Amino acid sequence: MAETDRVVVAGAGPVGMTAAAYLALHDIPVLVLEAGDDLATDLRASTWHPPTLDMLDFFDGIVGELAGWGLIAPTWQYRDRETGPVVTWDMSLLRDDTGHPYRIQTEQWKLTRLLHRRMADVQHFDLRFGHEVTGAGQDGDRAWVTANTADGIGKFEGRWVIGGDGANSAVRRSLDVAYDGLTFPELFLTLSTSFEFRGPMPDLTPVNYFADPEEWLVLLRVVDAWRVLFPTGPDEDMEFALTDERVQERLAGVAPGCGPFDVVHKTYYRVHQRVADRYRIGRILLAGDAAHINNPLGGMGMNGGIQDAFSLCEKLVAVWRGEAEDSVLDRYERQRRQMALDFVQQSTIRNRETLMETDPVQRQKRHDEMRRIADDPARAREFLLRSSMIAGLREAEAIP
Ligand SMILES: Cc1cc2nc3c(=O)[nH]c(=O)nc-3n(C[C@H](O)[C@H](O)[C@H](O)COP(=O)(O)OP(=O)(O)OC[C@H]3O[C@@H](n4cnc5c(N)ncnc54)[C@H](O)[C@@H]3O)c2cc1C
Repeated sequence: MAETDRVVVAGAGPVGMTAAAYLALHDIPVLVLEAGDDLATDLRASTWHPPTLDMLDFFDGIVGELAGWGLIAPTWQYRDRETGPVVTWDMSLLRDDTGHPYRIQTEQWKLTRLLHRRMADVQHFDLRFGHEVTGAGQDGDRAWVTANTADGIGKFEGRWVIGGDGANSAVRRSLDVAYDGLTFPELFLTLSTSFEFRGPMPDLTPVNYFADPEEWLVLLRVVDAWRVLFPTGPDEDMEFALTDERVQERLAGVAPGCGPFDVVHKTYYRVHQRVADRYRIGRILLAGDAAHINNPLGGMGMNGGIQDAFSLCEKLVAVWRGEAEDSVLDRYERQRRQMALDFVQQSTIRNRETLMETDPVQRQKRHDEMRRIADDPARAREFLLRSSMIAGLREAEAIP
């Protein structure tokens, strides 16, 4: 086998690592090029949905390890900031639909660490840090990326290239693939605190969405902290938004009369909704944030990306082994693009609108409807199938 008989993966985030580990465990040599000097540990996704966990069962025991590093959330809650809980959703209604009728709450970097550890003894898994991919190209039967390395510019060839290099994907940009969509006016501020919100609000679940016409928020439990997500701006000065004074004020708004709050992490980011025009460009395939991004309300970005990795790599294994024509990869694009456009984008945009509804009549209507759904087990299950991404996956599976 020539050295270039491999798949080259750009980016060692949760999507690139899942794809690479899946291929390597199917005896396909992989070369992963990561710009950073180590695996990223920034605080981003922390919610793992049931179908993602079902897929991750492929890596024997990894779901248990993720749960062991985090916590299992059998319920999640929708609340009104003024009046309290609207509905507490019980995921056990999905027990016949998934092997994991719950969410796991744990930071996304734990998956990349676990996969990296598992790949340590797999000879044909080659991960190189400090390799910043700058572009991608292809000819008849080869594809490649170029990358800046400590030894200068390198060209790395394989049979296929997977662009898992995140929202600013150099692979996608170098191929001029459009990445159209919108950017929200507000920034999203995330604060992590060791303060125990279950003191003032004992009925909290590990995942809580708070609707409010002025300041909606999300309160998420990870193993050693609560993470609070607020919209900010567009008029607020972000330097001021991060001052201790302002941060304390906002947290005190969530738990009036409490504080001071021990803030262990704070950051803000701009939020986009975008989907790439194409996921397959010949021998080059896009997955994860390189192919689609959305707001984090509903926790679908990383989950959707990992689902891309499985959908893509199952097909790529069949092509590699000569068991399927490469046209099966066009089906990857059809299925996963439609999932992003018709399901993830719509769900996350709707989630934001519901949380920020300013019309009190509409807000009340939405909450009454949610309560009616929750009171009817069949409708509640349908609702949970959608919010857990199972319904979207089933629809995508039906696409030829
Ligand atoms: C605050 C926040 C909360 C979120 N919460 C959730 C949630 O609860 N659930 C959920 O599903 N999603 C959530 N998301 C979205 C989620 O974080 C992303 O969808 C996910 O990280 C995408 O994974 P990825 O591997 O595609 O890209 P990334 O995680 O961005 O990984 C890309 C990797 O490629 C590397 N890279 C970048 N450029 C290059 C290059 N040129 N060459 C080589 N390497 C490169 C990067 O260093 C990185 O390691 C959240 C996002 C944010 C910001």
